[in-house]
Amino acid sequence: MTIAEERIDRLEALAAEATADGNVDRAREYVRLARRIAERNRLRLPRSFTRSTCDACDAYLRPGDNARVRLQDGHVVITCACGHHARYPYETA
Ligand SMILES: [Zn+2]
Repeated sequence: MTIAEERIDRLEALAAEATADGNVDRAREYVRLARRIAERNRLRLPRSFTRSTCDACDAYLRPGDNARVRLQDGHVVITCACGHHARYPYETA
């Protein structure tokens, strides 16, 4: 793991912690910083990161707290408190 990857990992954990503690804006700063590090180092953000952050407002998403998760037509639909939706397909057996 490179230093950049480690920092992204760490920032994801910090964002999760900050959100759990109600520091939503601090979590946003962590999310933005992690995105910048990925860009600068030409790294792909881990799936866990992209799926738990809002593309529109950079919030770290905690289902039941600031995000709603619903299943719809073979997709997982995650709605952020800002109103932005993210849709991901899921496999059916
Ligand atoms: Zn949002």
